[in-house]
Amino acid sequence: MSQQKITKAMLQEYYSDYFDVTPLINIIGLSTFRRREFGFDLGNTFTRNLSFGTPRKLVDYMGNQGVFQAYVGAVYSESPSKQQSIQRLQWESRELVFDIDLDEFDLVRRCDCKGEKTFCEECWTLAQDAMIFLDATMREDFGFEDLVWIFSGRRGVHCWICDDIAKKLDQRQRSAVINYLTLIKEGEKTPHVDMLPKYAKSLKERIFTLLSRSFFLNTAEAELIKLGFKKGDSKKILKRVLTESQFNYKQFIPTYPSIDPLRLAKAIIINRYPRIDRKVTLDTRRLLKIPNSIHGKTGNVCVVINNISNFDPFDVPSIFDKVLSN
Ligand SMILES: [Zn+2]
Repeated sequence: MSQQKITKAMLQEYYSDYFDVTPLINIIGLSTFRRREFGFDLGNTFTRNLSFGTPRKLVDYMGNQGVFQAYVGAVYSESPSKQQSIQRLQWESRELVFDIDLDEFDLVRRCDCKGEKTFCEECWTLAQDAMIFLDATMREDFGFEDLVWIFSGRRGVHCWICDDIAKKLDQRQRSAVINYLTLIKEGEKTPHVDMLPKYAKSLKERIFTLLSRSFFLNTAEAELIKLGFKKGDSKKILKRVLTESQFNYKQFIPTYPSIDPLRLAKAIIINRYPRIDRKVTLDTRRLLKIPNSIHGKTGNVCVVINNISNFDPFDVPSIFDKVLSN
């Protein structure tokens, strides 16, 4: 993360010469493009209720203005404008989105990355686990197929679900999806998990198969002993999770009769389960970062994550690598 200052001239150069709008078009499509809302942080002011006739006009605007942050919102009955703000238009559709931000994990991050201090290699695995878990759940439990993951440029990721049926979900339906996914009680000092709901069978399977490997890799022996493991078990467990390609909990659990599987599942949930910002998913009019735009504070490009497991957030391009005028 560079400490250099990002200037308007650098942003003008980036959006005029290097910005590729294709990932945005792949997500939002062309057929409703002119009725899509856009919003921008222009450095000294924030503006929204904007729309553009073509992607070219959008890119030209971003280049001319040298926008500090660039956002895209929902599709409305007519093209949003200053005269016809989105409040006066009928909402039509918006991809189903999830926002995963590492500061939501502050209570379980063991490194010293907190809040604004972005992330390190250790705690990035929380974001990676969250993506792997959510991606599988959306495909297997909901049948969605068109998922795009975007690095937010600072310390999180966004998931865009672009299936037609997902775009039309209203707030109540989005709320039901979030409720299905929520296992950790919010608003408490110590994160808490109640009994796992009956419907959660597939979630429970995934908690073991997808999250337990990193749980054991990142949990100190003293914590495992509190869960009922014996001294010396942790070395054997580590060897096991590192050599098995997928963690087979149905074989694992009976090997440790002193373990209460539900208690173990709850510990894995507390430490490794995705934290999703509900507000972002529920607010269907909310603006979200445009793929390939620049994060105005870090200078990072909000790149598309093509492969969740191999994505390296320390290797994303930034405006400082791209432009000449810095
Ligand atoms: Zn960290």
